[in-house]
Amino acid sequence: MYPIVSLFAKLCRLQSQTLQTLIHTEQLQRLFGYSTFRANQEEIVQAILAGRDVFAVMPTGGGKSLCYQLPASLLKGTCLVVSPLISLMKDQVDAANAFGMKAGLLNSTLSSSEQHEVLARLQEGFYDLLYLSPERLALPGFLERMQRAPLSFVAVDEAHCISEWGHDFRPDYLALSSLRQALPGVALTAFTATATKRVQEDIVRRLALKDPLMTRASFDRPNLFYQVQLREQVNSQIEAVVAAHPDEAGIVYRLSRADVEKTAAWLRDRGVKALPYHAGLDSQTRSRNQEAFNRDEVQVVVATVAFGMGIDKSNVRFVIHGDLPKNMESYYQETGRAGRDGEPALCLLLYGRGDSFRLRKFIDQLAGEEERQAGLAQLGRMMDFAEQPVCRRRAVLHYFEEDYAPDNCGACDICRHGVESVEATTEAQMIMSAIHRTGQRFGTGHIVDIVSGARTARISSLGHDQLKTYGVGRDRGKRFWRQLVEAMLGEGLLASEGEPFPLLQITARGAEVLFGRSPYVTQRMLEAKLGVPAAIPAELSSDGSLFAILRQLRRELAEGQGVPPYVLFSDKSLHQMCRLFPRTPEALLGINGVGQMKLERYGRPFLAAITAYLDENPGISSPPMDKGGGVPEPVRRVKKSTGTETHAETLRLARAGLDMAAIAARRELKTSTIAAHLGELLQQGHDLDIDQYVDREVRAAMTELFKAHGLFRLRPIVEAMEGRVGYDEATVVRGFLVSQGGKTEGKGESDSGGLPTR
Ligand code: ADP
Ligand code: ZN
Repeated sequence: MYPIVSLFAKLCRLQSQTLQTLIHTEQLQRLFGYSTFRANQEEIVQAILAGRDVFAVMPTGGGKSLCYQLPASLLKGTCLVVSPLISLMKDQVDAANAFGMKAGLLNSTLSSSEQHEVLARLQEGFYDLLYLSPERLALPGFLERMQRAPLSFVAVDEAHCISEWGHDFRPDYLALSSLRQALPGVALTAFTATATKRVQEDIVRRLALKDPLMTRASFDRPNLFYQVQLREQVNSQIEAVVAAHPDEAGIVYRLSRADVEKTAAWLRDRGVKALPYHAGLDSQTRSRNQEAFNRDEVQVVVATVAFGMGIDKSNVRFVIHGDLPKNMESYYQETGRAGRDGEPALCLLLYGRGDSFRLRKFIDQLAGEEERQAGLAQLGRMMDFAEQPVCRRRAVLHYFEEDYAPDNCGACDICRHGVESVEATTEAQMIMSAIHRTGQRFGTGHIVDIVSGARTARISSLGHDQLKTYGVGRDRGKRFWRQLVEAMLGEGLLASEGEPFPLLQITARGAEVLFGRSPYVTQRMLEAKLGVPAAIPAELSSDGSLFAILRQLRRELAEGQGVPPYVLFSDKSLHQMCRLFPRTPEALLGINGVGQMKLERYGRPFLAAITAYLDENPGISSPPMDKGGGVPEPVRRVKKSTGTETHAETLRLARAGLDMAAIAARRELKTSTIAAHLGELLQQGHDLDIDQYVDREVRAAMTELFKAHGLFRLRPIVEAMEGRVGYDEATVVRGFLVSQGGKTEGKGESDSGGLPTR
């Protein structure tokens, strides 16, 4: 063949691929304010843009919504999003709209005239995204109606709800089985955070996915710190964690409703804003409490497992389990609600052996023998997790059949504090001797009282203060002895039998140690290792006073708009603002999570607050991202449409052959404004002679740099050009590059939107 031709073709393909990637990245930046895709996101986005079915498993907080929102913003037509909880839909829609997307919802909370209006707008192709409940799809005639609507694709969120094997099976989801047949030409995509193989196959089969892209992201949540502590005074332990996180949101899980109420009351009595949540509360109270939590009006929700899928709140900073969850799956899902924004968060499990009795009771109530066996096996794994001295992260991932390579994860109690082998033969003998001498008829509390020499009524009435072992361990304190008993139970030296007051028994293995035939070496973390809950590893410290100011501002603005605060900016974004102190719109755009729309809508008050703070605190050093400083410019509104007057005037003068400085002089505007106009005009596809502003050679060099650094930030480009061009040229060239790529992709002019100005 003609090698030169094929080489050329290859180069063109490469070029268009790079450009496509540039476009996706540009859209990622413009819409969401993120500079890079997370694992699997880009692959999924590309598959959807190519019209392919997708089945994606991503952990909670992994960034599923972006996977369908981004293509929905680029493709013609509307993406139908099937979402299980009506209570969540409004927040999802608010969040999408805050990013500048056109999102709507269709559910039973709308009046019938509102529903008609939504359907009419859907027909016109107004929406990027339309959120629906599964019940809606089952309504007679609804799918036929969808056949006539301009759809881009369908996204099924929480897809495991379709499987009876999943933990959240919802019969309504079965209606989704008819989607494929009813909408044969529309790509189906399914997303879930839980999928065992069985559930996975079930989803693919029931939705009749055709040769889908199957992806599974790692279940590792690197920003979560896992810790397990012996449960002693459960409420005080919980309170200590809450106190260590002032003003930060957290969830406390308890097993029973009664304990939920008790813990919530305990916290409230100590001045913590806390509300209960469990299935015994009426649905109004439940949703009111959830709402209050969502909107940062209360700090803590104390809940049973009934508090679940409805939590979209991204800034949960700690999840405490006051009791052992019934299996690893639940533990993972519940802890997964912490730190969805990617900022550090603490997951603390308070564990006592007594938990297994209570959980066994639940398991005993299960119908079939097979289920009971499975339940017990699951519980066993959960207890192993709590008791074994291995990296918690490795243990969690192992459960999901994922290997975790690093030796030290750096963010669990085991890896942070280490475990060491402790020889505790004598101490174990003391405990067992007390058990032996009292006829194996007492529980942990009393045995510990004997060894540690407590003066209780029970001890004196039974005459146990006369025992040889009474008070032999006085110097170590009760806490030590309790932990030792736990360790001995965990390692099978002791067993505890009987309900509801389990009695300690010495096993054969224990007897070996008691009679000095083998030593006792434990790897459990004793005393020193079990101090206060670990501090959350701060990525980098951020300015706390400014954070408080910005959070208050966020709350007020959100309240005014009737949306949850995290919809405006995530905690992560706020923390970054408190580290980098952006004072200009461009600098603000450099913050993770600040896209064009959020800049326009909320940028001004935040910039003003940051500037005021810096003015009042002149000691704070100027951050690298914002050397210019000074009073924030008013946030420039980027025009979404062509032909606004001011742009038209710039266009007219440019076509007349004036250069930027001349246009600026003529119009009495800054050259940077003119550059922004030109960039946008080019981006919108206006025919302008780019050579007039930046000559070919320089432009070629800049194009390479943009490819390397992405289209978003101008600074790296300008710096790398070492004085050969300024921001104005960079702005113009960027607009030109987008216009070049924009022809292959995108929704057309009116939606192509504006690039960030600087
Ligand atoms: P999921 O639905 O999978 O639980 P979300 O879609 O709510 O997760 O995303 C979790 C968080 O991660 C959100 O705060 C979201 O804005 C953020 N996020 C998603 N993708 C990215 C990305 N590429 N870069 C930075 N943050 C991201
Ligand atoms: Zn670890």
